[in-house]
Amino acid sequence: MTTYEVTLKKEPCDGIFACLTRDPRFVEDDDGLATIDPAGDPVYDGDGEIREEDGDVIATFDDDRIDEARQAAAACPTNAIVVEEVEK
Ligand code: SF4
Repeated sequence: MTTYEVTLKKEPCDGIFACLTRDPRFVEDDDGLATIDPAGDPVYDGDGEIREEDGDVIATFDDDRIDEARQAAAACPTNAIVVEEVEK
């Protein structure tokens, strides 16, 4: 298990949705851009939290899906996704 923070920066996000196919926690938001929706993920275990800060979406997870998040970040052409391990 790894504790990590996923930040989705709305400003650079361009609604290309390459992230969605890498990690199902990324979903389309009402504004046509991406957001993080743990409720939309069937394997979400309820240990994470999601908050908004200055328009960005920041989610903390404690599970073994950091690789999926990193793949989504790597696939994002505008570098709108940042994945960082955090100390508990
Ligand atoms: S891949 Fe990047 S730019 Fe495209 S929707 Fe996802 S976060 Fe936004």
